[in-house]
Parts: sequence; structure tokens; C-alpha cells
Amino acid sequence: MSLETPPETTAPLEAARATIDQADRELIRLLARRFEAVRQVAQVKQSSADLTVLDPGRELSVQDNWLRDAETLGLPAPFARRMLKEILNQSRRLQEPILGSGDAPAEQTLRVGYQGILGSYSALSAAHLMATRTQAKTELIGFSTFPQVVEALQGGALDYAFLPVENSLMGSILDVNRLICDQALSIVDEDTWVVDHVLAALPGVQLEDLRSIRSHPAALAQCETFLREMEMDRVERMPWFDTAGAARSLAETQCRDAAALCSEEAATRYGLEVLARDIADRERNVTRFLLLAQEPEASDPRVPSKTSLLLRLNHHEGSLVRMLSAFSEGHINLTRIESRPLLDSPWEYLFFVDIEGHQATPEVKKALQKARQACNHMRILGSYPCRTRPDKHLEEAPPPGPSPVIEQVQAASGPPEPARHARVQVGNASIGEGTFTLIAGPCAVESRDQILDAARLVRSAGCPILRGGAFKPRSSPYDFQGLGLEGLRYLQEAGQLSGLPVVTEVITIEDIAAVVAHADMLQVGARNMHNFALLRELGKLDKPILLKRGMSATIKEFLMAAEYILAGGNQQVVLCERGIRTFETSTRSTLDVSAVPVLKRATHLPVIVDPSHAAGNRELVIPLALAAAAAGADGLIVEVHPRPEEALCDKTQALRPDDLEGMVASLRPIVASLGRRWL
Ligand code: PEP
Ligand code: MN
Repeated sequence: MSLETPPETTAPLEAARATIDQADRELIRLLARRFEAVRQVAQVKQSSADLTVLDPGRELSVQDNWLRDAETLGLPAPFARRMLKEILNQSRRLQEPILGSGDAPAEQTLRVGYQGILGSYSALSAAHLMATRTQAKTELIGFSTFPQVVEALQGGALDYAFLPVENSLMGSILDVNRLICDQALSIVDEDTWVVDHVLAALPGVQLEDLRSIRSHPAALAQCETFLREMEMDRVERMPWFDTAGAARSLAETQCRDAAALCSEEAATRYGLEVLARDIADRERNVTRFLLLAQEPEASDPRVPSKTSLLLRLNHHEGSLVRMLSAFSEGHINLTRIESRPLLDSPWEYLFFVDIEGHQATPEVKKALQKARQACNHMRILGSYPCRTRPDKHLEEAPPPGPSPVIEQVQAASGPPEPARHARVQVGNASIGEGTFTLIAGPCAVESRDQILDAARLVRSAGCPILRGGAFKPRSSPYDFQGLGLEGLRYLQEAGQLSGLPVVTEVITIEDIAAVVAHADMLQVGARNMHNFALLRELGKLDKPILLKRGMSATIKEFLMAAEYILAGGNQQVVLCERGIRTFETSTRSTLDVSAVPVLKRATHLPVIVDPSHAAGNRELVIPLALAAAAAGADGLIVEVHPRPEEALCDKTQALRPDDLEGMVASLRPIVASLGRRWL
């Protein structure tokens, strides 16, 4: 049979091909025109902060028109939908660098580290993501291991690290999760890459020449069915450190009896020929990568976003459910939840949680606020553009349920949502959530005997937490400044002998480690409430913090100081009203009793009161303590001394042992009448 086409069929074929060529040219021209218009839209949106970037209503109507026209012209709907999806994806990619006001200038080069060599899936995905998110040039730098990439980032040799975090077939990549949480990295973007292995060898090599196949063990496992069906049982599987490395090694050694499983790009880069494609056991093999930086980066909240969190639940019953329902009640979708054991605390877990939405939006803010109440620690790893499901709104029908208007009316007329108040654990005691907790002890630790005596009297009065200052923030530099480390040791010993957890003040960042090693709770005094550097450091700890109100701080400023600690991750904060400066001089400070109900409405954090520093005079301490309890405080912190006349500081306000017992007795009926449990 002749291979030549009979002359009579040539003309219509050529005519049809000419039509195809012309249609293709038109298609490209039309796409270019569409994308130019898309750029113009981005420019308009950039100059107007409140126009949403992704307008789901607009995209839905574009899709409706597109599908209607496709149907009229006889094009299958699934095909039309797929085409549109690609076009919309590209449109969003074009808009992002224009909208991202923080983008690096085009002449700058951003250094991105990844694990592997050029041609690896990491390198391919990194190049793809960087082209999407920035107009700056990118230099990709390969490393042998994940920790080496992170080390280079921390040493300043890289602007970003780009690491795989999960794979749709293999699950989570533990080493990378560990690095993110141990090295305090921020997530600034994500990308997904469809892993598509080919079997490749040097040019001219045939399947039957092969004696071994080399690749990353995961790739070998993912293509096992193909290898078996090709009767490759006789062929040895050789694990290699990565897929592209396997390809490169064939080129370097000119090995003609081996093949590599790698990306098509790696095969081309290292001069190999593809022997087989579509060889993976499963079609959808997708890896998700994260772009990591040392510091958080702002991203546009108008872009459909994801927020990644790292959290440690508190030990209270139902904490996991409470954390999850904070998101479900806010209609916030969780895209990932994964746990990882805490190395130093057996059977305790850290959770990695990804949610849809940006931390700067009111819905996410509200849900995070609620979720925090179930956590001892919550760190926001970052908000960044969501690249896993950017078309969600095109896939789904609008959710059934009441219209937003009805919901608003219900919210306005219904009973106010009961505020859930957190409980903060302090050693074997706790503060908040319906209990009344007394903290008592001397202003300062003055000697071993003094604090041991104090611990005994505090315990026998039924108070569950012992206080005592080792570092004292004195108004005069000539006054007793505290025993420092020696005081911490005595306080710890007193706590251990009496079985009471201890709280003590920390005044400098340098002292934090010593105080953490000796105390169950750290106090920030009134004079340090505005010490933001100190607050930030305390936010990194896993220890409860007693934050006192600054003498001239408004409630808002007080709450913002607490926010510094919470934002660092530490959720275990107790607020303490201790009196403010007013024109009144008959008391040391004026106790702001109204701060108690105001704070309790504004926040879920426990609120206690210090009547001692407000009064400055022991006669006034008990009446103020009773007022604080009646106003709804979650507890008190009071100064008591075994021998007040000998006290080295604040002697006029220190209760005597008998006074403390009297105060406890007077408080009992008030606490009971409020339905609180006495701790
Ligand atoms: C204290 O509690 O010892 C203390 C110094 O309190 P304040 O910081 O409230 O003055
Ligand atoms: Mn004091």
C-alpha cells in the first residue's frame, strides 16, 4: 500500500488545516486581548483599596455566559469548563504582581533555596511560583538536605526557602514540618506541582537493555505497577537521592544499561530520551510546596487566601472540639489538620492547621479569637494566596440557608453570644472559667526563712498560689532591689515544700530563662506593661503570664499589651487590674473596679485584681478585695507578710497572717453568691 495521499483528498485537507491555523492565530490574539484587559482591571483595582480582587459573582457570570455560548455552538460543557478554568487561572496570575504592592523591583534578584538539583520537581515548582508572584528575577539555589536550605535562609544567604510539605500519595513530609515549627519560620506562599514521572535513558538505549532503574525511593514506589507490567522484575531498583539527580548521573557516567524515573524536564536537561510516559500507579500525584521566610510578609487580603497555624491545645476537656467549632461556626473551611507529638511531653501534640481565609479579614479574626481559647499556644505561620483551590466558587452551588440579611437580623435580635472565658493553668492550680483563685505572698522574697514562713501561712489560709518578687522594679534605685537569682531559688524551694505553684516578676529579657526555670507563672509589672520587647519574648514561651495594667494605661492599651503576648503564640495570659493614677492621693492608686466587667466583656482572658498596690494601706485592702470579687474578678493577688513590720518593701500594705484569714472568710459568701467555685 502506498503511503502517499491520493491527490483528490489533498485540497479539502489543506483547506481544513488552513482554517485550523487561522483559528489558532485568532485564539492566541483573542487570549492576548483578554489578558491585556485583565491587566487593566488589576491596575484599576490596585488604586482602589476596597474593590475585591477576586469577584466570585463576576467570575460566576463569566462562567454562565461562557457555558451558554459553548452549548449554543455545540461544544461539550466539561471541555468548556476546563478551558475557562485555565484562562481564569492565568488571569489571576497576571493580576497578582500588579496588585502585590510589596513586590520586589524588577531589577532585584531573589535567592530561593530548594532541596535537589535543577530539573527536580522542587526546582520546577519554585520557578513556577516565583514567576507567578513577582516581577523580580529569581536565582534558584539547590542544596542536598532540607536543614541545609533552612540554615542558608537563617544565615542570610537566601531570601526564601522552598520546601515540599505534603504529597497526595505519600502524605505529610515530617522533616519539613519539624523545621517550620522548630526554626520559627513564616509561610509566605504555597504552590502545588503535579508530579509526572517519565522513564528516561541515554539516547538509543532500549527497554530490553536495562539492568537497573534509579530514582528517589518514592518515585520507584509510585511506578511499581508499570515496572511489574513491563516485566521489569529482572531490573534492579536503585534508590537515588532525588529524581533529577538520578537523571544527571546517567549523563555523567554515560551508563547505557540503566534508566531513571524523573520529570520530563530533567530528562531533557540531562540529554536523555523518554522511553515511557504516564507510568505512575495513580494519575493524581501532587506535591504541595511552601515558600518560607524568616519574617512574615504582608499579603493582599483581597486575594483568596489561606492561613496556616501551629497550635497546642490546652488540657481541658473538649479543647479539640472547641478549636474546630470556632472555625465551623465561622463557616471557615479547614484544608489541613495534622498532629505531631511534642518531644518533651509524651502524649501531647502540636497541630498544624490550615484554614481558608486571610488573618486580616473580620471572619478569620473572630474565629482565631475563639480558637485561641482552646489553646495554650497558637502561632500564625502566615496568610498567603491560596493556590490549591482558587476556583472553589465556580465548582459549587451557593450554600443553602438563610440569606445574609436574615442572619444579621437574627444576630441583632437574639441573645448575645455568651463569652467563653479561658482557664489558665498555673502548676496544679488554675485561674478563670468559673473559679475564684487567690494568689498571696510577700511583695519581695527577703530571705529563705521569710519566704518559707510566708508559704506556710498562705497555704494554711487556703490560697492556691504563692507570690514573691525576686527582681523588684523599685521606684528608687536606692531601695531594696530584690535577691535576684538567690530569691528565685528560695521561692522555688518554698513552692516545692508547700506544694504551691509560684508566680514572680520578670523585668528584663535577660532574666527570662532564669525565671522560667524557677517559677510556674511570670508576672509583668505595671512599670513594664509597655515594654513591648519583653512582651514579645514572653509571647514565645510556654508559661502562663500575669500581666498587670500600667499605672496610666487605658483599657485599650492594656488589651493591646496582652495582644503582644498572644500574637507571639502564648495564649496563657491573665490580666490584673492594680489601680491607676488619678488626682486622688488618699490611696496609693485608684482601683478601677469598672475595669473588671469592661475587660470581661472585651476579652476571654481571666481578669484578677491586686487590691494591695491600689490601696497602699492594709486597712483598705480587704474592702477593695470584696468589691473586686463582687464585680466579677476571677481572683485576687494580695501581699501578705509573716511579720509586716520587718518587710523590706511595701510594708504598709502587707496583710498580717490573721488579716489574710479574715479576708478569705469575708470573700466566701460573695464568691458563693456569684456561683463561682473556690479554688
Ligand atoms: C508587685 O506586684 O510586686 C508590683 C510591683 O506590682 P505593680 O507592678 O502592679 O506595681
Ligand atoms: Mn509590692
